Amino acid sequence: MSKTFAAVKGMNDLLPPQIEIWQRIEGIARKLFGRYGFSEVRTPIVEDTALFVRSVGEVTDIVGKEMYTFIDKGDRSISMRPEGTAPAARAYIENGVANTEPLTRWFYMGPMFRYERMKTGRYRQFYQLGAEAYGALDPAQDVEVISLCHEFFKQIGVPDVVLHLNSLGDGSTRPAYLELLKQHFLPFLEVMSPEAKLAYEKNTMRLLDSKEAALQEAIASAPAILDSIDEGSKQHFADVQRLLIKLGIPFELDRRLVRGLDYYTRTTFEFIYEPKSGENALGTAGTVCGGGRYDRLVHELGGPEKPAVGFAMGLDRLVLLVEKLKGIERAAPTLFIGTFDGPERDDAIALVMKLRNEGFDVDFDPRNGKLPKQKERASKVNAAWFAAYGVNEHTARTLKIDNMRLAPGAPKETVEVALDALPAWLNSKSKTPS
Ligand code: ATP
Ligand code: MG
Repeated sequence: MSKTFAAVKGMNDLLPPQIEIWQRIEGIARKLFGRYGFSEVRTPIVEDTALFVRSVGEVTDIVGKEMYTFIDKGDRSISMRPEGTAPAARAYIENGVANTEPLTRWFYMGPMFRYERMKTGRYRQFYQLGAEAYGALDPAQDVEVISLCHEFFKQIGVPDVVLHLNSLGDGSTRPAYLELLKQHFLPFLEVMSPEAKLAYEKNTMRLLDSKEAALQEAIASAPAILDSIDEGSKQHFADVQRLLIKLGIPFELDRRLVRGLDYYTRTTFEFIYEPKSGENALGTAGTVCGGGRYDRLVHELGGPEKPAVGFAMGLDRLVLLVEKLKGIERAAPTLFIGTFDGPERDDAIALVMKLRNEGFDVDFDPRNGKLPKQKERASKVNAAWFAAYGVNEHTARTLKIDNMRLAPGAPKETVEVALDALPAWLNSKSKTPS
């Protein structure tokens, strides 16, 4: 026997029936994001490695240890995208979008790649749904993207997602804050891993995000950046909160929330799945969305001065939750047509295709087994109705259609429908709840 293969570790096949949840969520996203004024963009899966080093930051988990980086045949360093904000900003700048419109709202959906330790809700190829709004400094823009997330969770049917909110200030007071933070962490230098030491030197704020046990106490007692942000950012943050209250979107102030990437300024937020009772299906991977403002990113990547705010959601985690909380609603045929050997089988098959092409969910069994086997198949795919199409039906131009979804103990229900009347009949039935 020849060798069998397995998917690369941390990368999943997305198959039926779970794929139906993916498609439903993606469908809701396209509609809702469109209604909010966001247009879809699709950027390449790989980018110049330097793009991520410059934007995400060298001393971050992503660039420090999680990127899939390789040298291509032209000797360029290429990376599989670990996130979508830097590629979107690159596309925004490269295509001169700012010259054609003052306000740009984009969304994207697609796979991201990070070489991380796997567990529930944490994979090496995972999927993000993200949005980016360029051009508005106003707090209304922060609130619009937050409102979009809030409504999205509602529409896909995931409750108990709590909005955590913080502000990192505009950057002007950050050097002073970092100095404070360095002093605070100084006594802990000796218990730090080499990694944490590097963060201490190069990107001290990252320490607040560290999972190292020896640092947890120091993190808990660290000064909060919210206490040292500039006046303009304070006002901005107050406006964001006022508007959220006006829209009835609940939130929790989270003074520890600093987010994993270097480019954030002012508002930062996360939506975290925190069920009020029962076990948390996501375990410690409960963050389903992270976002915020990055007013300097576009300029730092060589573009014009353009404020921006956005977010990225982890779709794998949301699909997991939807499956746990709501199960899978499988699409099922309205009518299943059974066939027999003989010349009229071609007519039966032609009828199936014709009805499908007219927009009805009609199925049959292409293996052409015995009728009871075909009926079994019809039950298996949860068809609502079943009709055999043989020589008698062909001559009489009429089908006898059986209800396949009778309540237990209910009497058999059969309706006779002329072939010509099938489209009208199917129209009246296709709204039957499955
Ligand atoms: P975490 O703290 O869980 O590692 P992060 O800060 O690295 O998250 P972001 O870069 O903010 O994550 O990505 C946005 C969202 O994408 C996360 O909130 C999460 O839902 C999802 N996500 C991130 N990494 C993974 C992964 N490896 N597998 C599945 N989903 C992921
Ligand atoms: Mg991470």
